[in-house]
Amino acid sequence: MQGVSSLSGEGDGAAGASWLVLAAGSRVPGDSVDLLEQAFPAGRVHCVSSLADCLREAGTGAFDALILEPGEPALEVLARLAGELPCLFLQPCYDGSEARRALELGAQDCLGMEGLDAPRLRRCLEHALGRHARERLASMHAEGRDTASGLADRAALNANMDRSIGLADRSASMLGLLVVDVGAVDDIAGSGDLREVQGVLRGIGRRLVESTRRTDLVARMGGGQFAVLLHEIDGDFAASRVAEEILAALEKPLEVDGREHWLGTSIGIALFPRDGQRVETLLSRAGAAGERARHRGRGGYAFHSEAVNAKVRKRVTLEGQLRRAMQRGGLRLAYQPKVSAELGTITGAEALLRWSDPELGDVPPVEFIPVAEETGLIVPLGAWVIREATAQLARWKAAGFHGLRMMVNVSARQIERDDLRETLVSALWESDLDPRDLVLEVTESALLENESRAIESLGELARMGLGIALDDFGTGYSSLSFLKRFPLEWVKIDRSFVQDLAFDPDDAAIVTAILSIARQLDLRVIAEGVETAAQRDFLVRHGCDEIQGFLISPAVSPEAFEAQLRESESGHPFAA
Ligand code: C2E
Ligand code: MG
Ligand code: MG
Repeated sequence: MQGVSSLSGEGDGAAGASWLVLAAGSRVPGDSVDLLEQAFPAGRVHCVSSLADCLREAGTGAFDALILEPGEPALEVLARLAGELPCLFLQPCYDGSEARRALELGAQDCLGMEGLDAPRLRRCLEHALGRHARERLASMHAEGRDTASGLADRAALNANMDRSIGLADRSASMLGLLVVDVGAVDDIAGSGDLREVQGVLRGIGRRLVESTRRTDLVARMGGGQFAVLLHEIDGDFAASRVAEEILAALEKPLEVDGREHWLGTSIGIALFPRDGQRVETLLSRAGAAGERARHRGRGGYAFHSEAVNAKVRKRVTLEGQLRRAMQRGGLRLAYQPKVSAELGTITGAEALLRWSDPELGDVPPVEFIPVAEETGLIVPLGAWVIREATAQLARWKAAGFHGLRMMVNVSARQIERDDLRETLVSALWESDLDPRDLVLEVTESALLENESRAIESLGELARMGLGIALDDFGTGYSSLSFLKRFPLEWVKIDRSFVQDLAFDPDDAAIVTAILSIARQLDLRVIAEGVETAAQRDFLVRHGCDEIQGFLISPAVSPEAFEAQLRESESGHPFAA
């Protein structure tokens, strides 16, 4: 109650207000309660007679103002409550020195009961509410709050941005600034219903706060314009994700006092340091981008730079097409053989995703896997890969090819989820396979994202019998303690070290070192990207267990792989 009517301006809201009266004695005609009921027939009056009751009731926040009748505790109540609630101090007859004391303690007004009538009391209280509202407004401004929305105000935004720019500059991190323009606010403001405007602004503020991280700043710049400052943002795509979340959150109509409001939002984005180094530059560039987004129609977002817009649009299109491909079964798996380094016989396969789109052509995994990871699509996609790859291995088994192990790549997003184990268990069960038939390939960066969760989750899978391989070893942090902390069976030496093995003494030294450490830690090693016989010979000489690469075969269809299996089984060393 207090929040609404005391903020809504002089006169406004007083008619239906709730009054708390600290009454000194029993009620008589012409006392304050009687006059209040006459002055505000639609209002509500609650009477208390003790200091304790008065403080308790005032603390509920259910009252718009407090009326203190003459009596002992009135001044004490004033001293404790005057800042929170507008207080009207009544005297039997006007006493100037006591009135001054009451005003000093924070009373909004003082009145003598003698000759007081309902119209005068009404005028006086309306005035007191208005004055209190203005004072609150002023004090909230001083705190950097926008009273209508409850968010940070423009001054606080400027100060925060200034500070954040300094910090981001020092830590070489990026900031994202989103200027969010909500078209409906101007229309609603035009209707003149302040209570409704405030309800809408608060509703928007709430949704903005819910769509962002706790460390981000949400502010109201004025009118229907809001700003969201994103700290330590990864880049354009991360900013575009937040913009999409905000658009989705503000897409639903907002209900205030039983009325629905469609908001109509557009967003402009600028990034520090790329799009500007100063507060004003960033604000004006994000604002101008928002203007462009609005011209294209509400419900969209735009970046300051056109090149970025094009890049993000391409990414969004890719995401849409990937979703469609997943629904229509447009993805398939190709299988790259891995062979025993010494014997050349096929020991298994790595399942690799292939996407051949009717419009886009062949899209390489390095382009669509990151999109799938960012959007969470990797979870259903990865589950499909697991089911499909195990089913394929079961078919090869049924065709008489035994002892093969299937390697499947899994992403951080999959590892951190509780249902990965369930997906694996049911895939193995449906294909009637043993956990040992499957090896999961994980990258160092995936493990680092949530290390303790990864150790726990992979530990459980390893105990079930699944093999775990560290993919692309050498390209990430390559901390040796990694090799001990995780329940690894395999290490895959990245292609970049294998490439120049025969010429580059540094790469040769790295590969030999990895092989020797792995041997001591009882880990097995696969070398990836082996393209020449010289590379293979080097690896065999230094005790590498298995190899994989174009020298043997690229990833191929299941049928082609089966042909390779037959050749391998016929006794001819496969890697000629
Ligand atoms: P990766 O797991 O390290 O896979 C090895 C990549 O190297 C594959 O690229 C493979 O085709 C390629 N390759 C193999 N031998 C050679 C060679 O001798 N020379 C050269 N130049 N390249 C070779 P691809 O299929 O484009 O996959 C790229 C990456 O995409 C994979 O790297 C993996 O990280 C990811 N990926 C592919 N399929 C999946 C999947 O089902 N799930 C997940 N999470 N990631 C996948
Ligand atoms: Mg791999
Ligand atoms: Mg790899």
